[in-house]
Amino acid sequence: MITRNDCEKMDATDPMAAVRDLFTLPEGEIYLDGNSLGALPKAAPARIAKAVEQEWGVDLIRSWGKAEWFTMPERLGDRLGRLIGAAEGQIVVCDSTSINIYKALHAAMAARPDRKVIVSETASFPTDLYMIEGALAGQGKAYSSRLLGRDGDDIAELIDGDVAAVLLSNVDYKTGALHDMERITKLAHDAGAMVIWDLCHSAGVIPMELDRIGADFAVGCTYKYLNAGPGAPAFIYVATRHQEGTTQPLSGWWGHAAPFAFETGYRPTSGIRRFLCGTQPILSMTGVETALDVFDTFDIKDARTKSQKLTGLFMDLVAQSEICNVLRPISPREDAIRGSQVSYAFKNGYPVVKAMIEKGVVGDFRAPDVMRFGFAPCYLRYVDVFDAVAALEDALTREVWNIAKYCEMEAVT
Ligand SMILES: *Cc1c(COP(=O)(O)O)cnc(C)c1O
Repeated sequence: MITRNDCEKMDATDPMAAVRDLFTLPEGEIYLDGNSLGALPKAAPARIAKAVEQEWGVDLIRSWGKAEWFTMPERLGDRLGRLIGAAEGQIVVCDSTSINIYKALHAAMAARPDRKVIVSETASFPTDLYMIEGALAGQGKAYSSRLLGRDGDDIAELIDGDVAAVLLSNVDYKTGALHDMERITKLAHDAGAMVIWDLCHSAGVIPMELDRIGADFAVGCTYKYLNAGPGAPAFIYVATRHQEGTTQPLSGWWGHAAPFAFETGYRPTSGIRRFLCGTQPILSMTGVETALDVFDTFDIKDARTKSQKLTGLFMDLVAQSEICNVLRPISPREDAIRGSQVSYAFKNGYPVVKAMIEKGVVGDFRAPDVMRFGFAPCYLRYVDVFDAVAALEDALTREVWNIAKYCEMEAVT
């Protein structure tokens, strides 16, 4: 039996323990939703206040140069690249993930004009599928999608010479299962297709090697494990070898070769700035900056190790309790193929999650029946995992689905 005392000992020797002190966390709460909205870095309010009061309030228009607002997309992109194995000059922080997916899809399709198929999977986060629909709708009837789970059960069978691009998340947002990025990238390349990786559920928690595996495009958000704040801008990675050859459809002035020449026609700039569209949300960008400062204080590999231990511990604690008889684990037990979350299918999952939140243990629910618990290694302790399982046990033992107040659905789950 694993005891709370065992967990305290693990905390005492945790090399990431000090990182927790860099965050503001609600008193007495165990936050298992960092995979949806990461916690607040302590340095963020002062940094954002400086951007508001000094850079905006005093320096005004001069801040585009003086505070280096104009180059924030690529400066932050280069810093972020360190966490996902991308050399400089290949990432801009900008726009939302959905918008960046659209740009990447178009760029990939334009680079493979004789191919008419996009491959993805039914288990994708829905916006990815919706953006594929939108991107294909603009291309005419000849184009179509092929989805793992609908058109076949093996990704290898779906990828052939008709495929322009493969768009996949490396971590499944519901189950936490990992795709083998290197294998799938190779499969796509062997068939002459491009790969777009969606890193929303992995950036900041799983070390990656985008350059080494030869990824073509990647996108991801910064407000989940990267803790940049609600609605903070996303990022897009475009491998250097594709930057000059490809076009992106949102040909705005920030991607122009001479934005301040105010020419009549669009001329794309060279390099990664070609993937920008228009003026960026500078205040939110400063949230990305403070978030990345936190990531300068530890090795991302240590975050992965801790994340595997936290999620593994959660699964072990559930397995040693009687509640394991009613919950169906849907996350891989094998550390190497699990992201930083643990999910269980349970018919009455929604009221259980709601009752846990009332006790200060914040997870979330994904329809139809998935209870999802995300483990951010930056600010969670092993004792938190122990206490979270105790709250889960409590909700199940009390059969909270028989209590009306836990059953009413909220608009955002
Ligand atoms: C969270 C998430 C998104 C979010 O897209 P936005 O445009 O930022 O709302 C997209 N894809 C995946 C896989 C996600 O997990």
